[in-house]
Amino acid sequence: MSVRYDVAIVGGGIVGLATAFRLLERRPKLRLVLLEKEHQLLLHQSTHNSGVVHAGLYYAVGSRKARLCRDGKAELERFAAEHGIPIERCGKLVVAVDRAEAPGLEALAKRATANGVPGLELVGPERIAEIEPHVAGVAGLLSPTTAIVDFGAVGHAYADEVRARGGDILLACRVDAIERRAAGAGEELLLRWADGEVRAGAVISCAGLWSDRVAAMTGHAGHERVVPFRGDYLRLRPEARRLVRALIYPVNDPRFPFLGIHLTRRMDGEVWAGPNAALAFAREGYRRTDIVPRELAETLADRGFLRLAFRFWQAGAAEMVRDVWKPAFAAQVRRYLPELRDEDLEPGPSGVRAQSVRLNGELVDDFSIGGSGRILHVRNAPSPAATASLAIGRELAELAERRFDLG
Ligand SMILES: Cc1cc2nc3c(=O)[nH]c(=O)nc-3n(C[C@H](O)[C@H](O)[C@H](O)COP(=O)(O)OP(=O)(O)OC[C@H]3O[C@@H](n4cnc5c(N)ncnc54)[C@H](O)[C@@H]3O)c2cc1C
Repeated sequence: MSVRYDVAIVGGGIVGLATAFRLLERRPKLRLVLLEKEHQLLLHQSTHNSGVVHAGLYYAVGSRKARLCRDGKAELERFAAEHGIPIERCGKLVVAVDRAEAPGLEALAKRATANGVPGLELVGPERIAEIEPHVAGVAGLLSPTTAIVDFGAVGHAYADEVRARGGDILLACRVDAIERRAAGAGEELLLRWADGEVRAGAVISCAGLWSDRVAAMTGHAGHERVVPFRGDYLRLRPEARRLVRALIYPVNDPRFPFLGIHLTRRMDGEVWAGPNAALAFAREGYRRTDIVPRELAETLADRGFLRLAFRFWQAGAAEMVRDVWKPAFAAQVRRYLPELRDEDLEPGPSGVRAQSVRLNGELVDDFSIGGSGRILHVRNAPSPAATASLAIGRELAELAERRFDLG
């Protein structure tokens, strides 16, 4: 007979781990298991990202993203201080390179103000030169509280909390079926993987790039599909790092949830340029040459993706050019950092974003959580979900307490 838990969480990324931590914090007696398909925790989005603790500039006012990013940043800063994880409030500058971009920057400043981002400053060229001496722009928006952190260290600290509070974390368990079964007067769920199974009173899925697949296992397929967008980074050579003090971003295109190729100083002193946003040819396709024909065919046959591709083919084609041709990538950065030369950039790592797309071709903008009965699915948790992880975890824990009888 398999072991029975009150709650099973699928996915050992930063969102699953934060949710497990928040649940055990509220319910110390809860029997909880977290199932991760890899041999290690935190191998996907949670450790393949820009490492930026976002202040919440971009998100639609009143959205889950806006609220949970603001709350999550404060909760993360507290958690990091309590656990000795370094976090650096280096600040971020968004740069309008010409007059045509100034309205976009002003609209961003308005939105950021409405979202309650503290300390914002709209600046001109002189102040830009003080903040980032090598940046060229006609105007800028400074967010002094934006920070950087190592999200891997944060995620492992969540895992330590889960284990210390009696939660079980099982690795190498790729859940491939979730079945409902009668149990006494009620129901329980059986989660199976290749060589094992557990029973649980309730399930919370935080499966990132596979969230739609896990949702389909419980009959919650819905009309949203995950489209994997690869983002490559290039590293600045050590001699070129002097060009960047902190975080430098272009004015974003509000039609897309991606923020444009930016420059990010990392906790270890490296500076990365990126990420771009090209279609990945596999859900975990970190390299251009990683192709899983079945996964690619599914994406290309998906009506939502086709509508998206048809609407934005020009932007998509430009991204694919930047993807294969370094000078085009470098030219994008040179718009606001003119001294950067092609040879200052070396190959760097990549990440793959789990971005949900609706049947009508719209990119799902907000964090989305669905499910019914004793099952909850995190369906869309792209950036800034690492920043917001503790707040997302708290929200899921509250929802679980309301929906499931946790005893
Ligand atoms: C390029 C890039 C840059 C980003 N930059 C930032 C940033 O600067 N700041 C920020 O806040 N956010 C950023 N993000 C977003 C952030 O990294 C993600 O939103 C966050 O990591 C999502 O966490 P997650 O736990 O949902 O997903 P993941 O980290 O992908 O974890 C999901 C886990 O579920 C597991 N899993 C999947 N299916 C199963 C199954 N069937 N059985 C068992 N386990 C399963 C996977 O193996 C994985 O470990 C960025 C993302 C990318 C890709």
